[in-house]
Amino acid sequence: MEREAFDLAIVGGGLAGGLTALAVTQRRPDLSLALIEAGESFGGNHRWSWFEGDIGAAGEALLAPFEKTVWTGGNDVHFPAHSRRLAADYRSLDSRDFDAALRRELPQSAIFAGCRAREIGGDGVRLEDGEHVQAKAVIDCRDAGPSPHLTGGWQVFLGQTLRTDAPHGIDRPVIMDATVAQPGAYRFIYLLPLGKHEIFVEDTYYADSPVLDADLLRKRIANYAADRGWRTEVMHEEAGVLPVITGGDFKAYRASLERPGVALAGARGGFTHPLTSYTMPIAVRNALAIADMAHLPGPALANAVAARATRHWADTAYYRLLAKMLFDAAEPSKRYTIFERFYRLPEPLIERFYAARSTPADKARILSGKPPVKIGRAIRAILGKGAPLVHMERR
Ligand SMILES: Cc1cc2nc3c(=O)[nH]c(=O)nc-3n(C[C@H](O)[C@H](O)[C@H](O)COP(=O)(O)OP(=O)(O)OC[C@H]3O[C@@H](n4cnc5c(N)ncnc54)[C@H](O)[C@@H]3O)c2cc1C
Repeated sequence: MEREAFDLAIVGGGLAGGLTALAVTQRRPDLSLALIEAGESFGGNHRWSWFEGDIGAAGEALLAPFEKTVWTGGNDVHFPAHSRRLAADYRSLDSRDFDAALRRELPQSAIFAGCRAREIGGDGVRLEDGEHVQAKAVIDCRDAGPSPHLTGGWQVFLGQTLRTDAPHGIDRPVIMDATVAQPGAYRFIYLLPLGKHEIFVEDTYYADSPVLDADLLRKRIANYAADRGWRTEVMHEEAGVLPVITGGDFKAYRASLERPGVALAGARGGFTHPLTSYTMPIAVRNALAIADMAHLPGPALANAVAARATRHWADTAYYRLLAKMLFDAAEPSKRYTIFERFYRLPEPLIERFYAARSTPADKARILSGKPPVKIGRAIRAILGKGAPLVHMERR
């Protein structure tokens, strides 16, 4: 039987698609909605984290239905020549909780999990099984892939939730422990204490190549735990290879993925922080903005989202410049010095940086003083083209 056309179909039930569906449900319950996700659960296998100040009051309200881990008491960073405690509180959302909340909050008629889209058009979505889900407007939030139109490097990581047989003694998030060996990349360990006997340990690399050697990273995590005297059991694991964007032709990038009358959003649409590769604050802002435009006809919605993407690309030029310095001006084993220096700056500036909301004064301050890289290399990096973001290994 032909189903009535949905007002809105969102393809890709990851962070961006899921948050947009939730925002539409909260703000425009009069609109009918389909959230179409290829996987059996929404959100995949991720843990998304963010600083309390990144999100704002409207964003907090959007995220209220999700069960989150909340740390008060700030966060720590460690570098070879500098450790610091910062005041910002931290939050983390496990994709299993993301999935559970979406299934609870969205109307049952909106849930299309385990449904891979085969074709996406302005009038709806053709699923793998042949069904056509008709919709008046369509948003493409599928995951981002490699692209020859963008340049940059990679953030490669593997994280494990470990159970320790005795209390591990870490009482707040450690955003970067870069006192570890730096084998040809900026490497740091990220720690999230989830309980007295439970800790998330992630080994991360800002690397030139997208290769994730899972066994090697597992060994390094085991060694890190053993060095601290923790006897551990692995409870859960996740891994990622994310692009770090240093430049490129954004118009050509979007044109290679856009379909007529379909809004292109999420990380795929360019809505990321080019240097950290994180999207939580950006995905929240976008979800709220799209919900407020969700009544528009498909082509108008697509144009409005494209305009936001172009603005976002222009607004984040500075972070691409910093990413360029990181990858093209610093020796891989010395990349940590850029972050070490950055973490000596005032805390409000650091918070605005993570939220991709740096002020002109912040931007000047980050680049002022003695640079941590050689001037000649920095100039060559700024003028250079950078490496194309291709050969991405799929997980
Ligand atoms: C392990 C990991 C940890 C991360 N940690 C953080 C963090 O702490 N903070 C942060 O801000 N960011 C983090 N990120 C970055 C993260 O990629 C983004 O923040 C976010 O997930 C991007 O959201 P998205 O919705 O654009 O893409 P995704 O979340 O990747 O969602 C895309 C969805 O589209 C679905 N899909 C693909 N093709 C089809 C199809 N044909 N039909 C239907 N569905 C389809 C996929 O199954 C997927 O669920 C992390 C990434 C990884 C991999």
